Amino acid sequence: MNPDALQAHAQPLIIIARAAVDARGHWSCRTSPVALLLDQASGKVLSITPASDLPPELCRSDIPTIERTDAVLLPGLINAHTHLDLTDIGPRPHDPALGFMPWIDMVRRERPETDAAIAAAVRRGISLSLAGGTVAVGDIAGAPRATPSTLPYQTLAESPIASVSYLEFFAIGNGLQRGKEAITAALASSSSPSPHARLGLQPHAPNTVALTGYEHALSLAASPRNIPLCTHLAESPEEREFIARARGPQREFLESLGLWNDTLAAEVGRGLSPIEHLAPVLESARRQRTPFTAVHCNDVSDSDLDILARCGTRVVYCPRASDYFAAPSHFGPHRYREMLARGIPVALGTDSIINLPAHAADPQTGSISILDEMRHLHRRDATEPATLLAMATLHGASALDASPADCRLSPGSMPLAIIAVDVSRPQSSSNADDPLSWVLSAESSPTWLWTRKNTV
Ligand SMILES: [Zn+2]
Repeated sequence: MNPDALQAHAQPLIIIARAAVDARGHWSCRTSPVALLLDQASGKVLSITPASDLPPELCRSDIPTIERTDAVLLPGLINAHTHLDLTDIGPRPHDPALGFMPWIDMVRRERPETDAAIAAAVRRGISLSLAGGTVAVGDIAGAPRATPSTLPYQTLAESPIASVSYLEFFAIGNGLQRGKEAITAALASSSSPSPHARLGLQPHAPNTVALTGYEHALSLAASPRNIPLCTHLAESPEEREFIARARGPQREFLESLGLWNDTLAAEVGRGLSPIEHLAPVLESARRQRTPFTAVHCNDVSDSDLDILARCGTRVVYCPRASDYFAAPSHFGPHRYREMLARGIPVALGTDSIINLPAHAADPQTGSISILDEMRHLHRRDATEPATLLAMATLHGASALDASPADCRLSPGSMPLAIIAVDVSRPQSSSNADDPLSWVLSAESSPTWLWTRKNTV
């Protein structure tokens, strides 16, 4: 960095740390900490050099300097799938042997329904997300009493966290028309622009939204603006049984609500997997260039993998949620690494706090943490650290239809945020030459050093 060039910048900031890492690589030096020089006015990283190479002109008392020589710098992380409006239900134990339906009943019974309660839950979820070093979320704005809610969107728009708020809806069987009208009205009523909050649409899942409900979402997404779509897909054995054989607890659930009808009966029970069932919708999204994200994808055959790759579908994998529901015992190990090898972007999500460990809700130390999802996969699968950081940053940006530059640290880039993770207690399992492996082996939570909006 030429000190003369610094004169042109109004707000230089120097961060001294043990190392810096993004999904493309790391900056470290055996004999010196590194110094990241940032122009806060533009948000641009100007240089990363060994701190010992900083020219004396930059070591001035009027240039703010943050010293974190115990820590590794990372870009802010992206949680591509969460349900912040469920935060106040808190973590709950679950016995997978009981199946999915008792759990769904609990959520329907306990989810907040008043505006004040929903906003409070989302705000608490935002705080816990920030505590986990999350700078952007794909949040599902739940539909209490089957009515799409824009309140999470409004709450996120007022917060320092960047977001896509996916308006969730149900539209199936005898409730098809009612569901389509409800989501059309919700979208029309939520046009307030925000620089860092966007709207998306979330047809809930193939067992609660008919194919024509998905097509309706595609038509809404295309006009007047191309907004991203998201859905739960290929998540549970109950979903597979319903789609392939038109029976099981999901059918009984729809019957109990008076939603089952002949049109729906003709659409399911054709022996297809959930991804095969939804393939025409995924193909339409590809043709009209609507970003489409499929969340979970626990139940994926070879031909399902072909469909996801062919349709350019983005995937969000929620590792701890998958394990909480014992998905691997039904479908085998999640195929996220094969997906990545096929060029399918796979981002990380936490799903709701309900499926996280009890400590996630601790008022002092709790967090809704993508770093903990990375650590879980690193421990469980020994997944390459760089792959995990790409899932938590670049692929997260892809899932939210954001810029990859939002999560790079290289000179010239403009990260949304810079966080630090204390690595002063190295674990024997970490790789001495890889600062990211120190981060994954540590247990410390991230701290915030800088955000582009400077409001966190
Ligand atoms: Zn979900």
